Amino acid sequence: MKKILVTGGAGFLGSHLAEKLINKGNYVIAADNLCTGNLKNIEKLLVRSNFEFIEHDIIKPIDIKVDEIYNMACPASPPKYQEDPIFTFKSSVFGVYNLLELAKKYNAKFLQSSTSEVYGDPLVHPQAEGYKGNVSFCGIRSCYDEGKRAAETLIMDFRRMYSLNTKIARIFNTYGPNMNKNDGRVISNFINQALGRKNITLYGDGKQTRSFCYVDDTIEAIIKLMETDDSVYFPINIGNPDEKSIKEIAELVVKLTSSSSKIIYEKLPEDDPVKRCPDITKAKNILNWTPSVNLKDGLIRTIDYFKDIKTTNE
Ligand code: UDP
Repeated sequence: MKKILVTGGAGFLGSHLAEKLINKGNYVIAADNLCTGNLKNIEKLLVRSNFEFIEHDIIKPIDIKVDEIYNMACPASPPKYQEDPIFTFKSSVFGVYNLLELAKKYNAKFLQSSTSEVYGDPLVHPQAEGYKGNVSFCGIRSCYDEGKRAAETLIMDFRRMYSLNTKIARIFNTYGPNMNKNDGRVISNFINQALGRKNITLYGDGKQTRSFCYVDDTIEAIIKLMETDDSVYFPINIGNPDEKSIKEIAELVVKLTSSSSKIIYEKLPEDDPVKRCPDITKAKNILNWTPSVNLKDGLIRTIDYFKDIKTTNE
């Protein structure tokens, strides 16, 4: 039985990942500082014999003997990561440093949840891993974008210096159950606004695009990446290339919830990327993975989740 540390284990992606890894027969330790994670996400896991939770902030060093480390810890929604940008930067950079030291000490395999934000506001479309990005390093998103870029640098340097077995998953927009209702991201905002018969807040003209991947698909790819051998150390995009404008998303959510909500236009946040779509050739060829849940089905499952949760999931 492998002993696996999942940091951010009470968060959106981390909680799904922990559950999958437990079901595969591993012993999972979920660590989370609960800044955006929520114990409700792992309530049903806490009773499992091969699961434990520790409250821990990765900005501080950690010493637990494990075979694998998945670093899923960092606020990831723009409003949340911008609330305390210095903390976000420290989580990304000091956090990954501490976990790499841990990986080095116990010779553990290490996987980083990186992000499509490393491409910034991309000038190349779709984005393949070789694209170096167009990132504002002084803007309000840079605490996250540059933090995650610096994290990739550290990972590659630890690998070169200490021969660590490391993996980098560049995760594009993901949605599904366990998203925080109030995290400010577009899918959770639109669904909760539609279900609450509130106005749907479309930022800018709504022509900006994103490509949304259902969480089960994302998690499957992340685990497949961890299972690759040492030759797969370079970043791999994980996302669903089904690109949509944000206006299309608003209209689809209104339709699927049969909501009477009206779409209203609000100011576009600073540095909001105009387009985003992953080139997933590498994931297809190397991981033998392709996303299988289409946007409509994934949204229906996510809508059902938000209908089901009675109390605010903060
Ligand atoms: N967005 C929006 N209304 C909202 C929240 C977000 O129109 O209530 C837009 C946002 O400006 C961006 C896109 O939806 O263009 C995706 O935003 P999100 O915060 O989910 O993630 P991002 O991909 O920007 O990190």
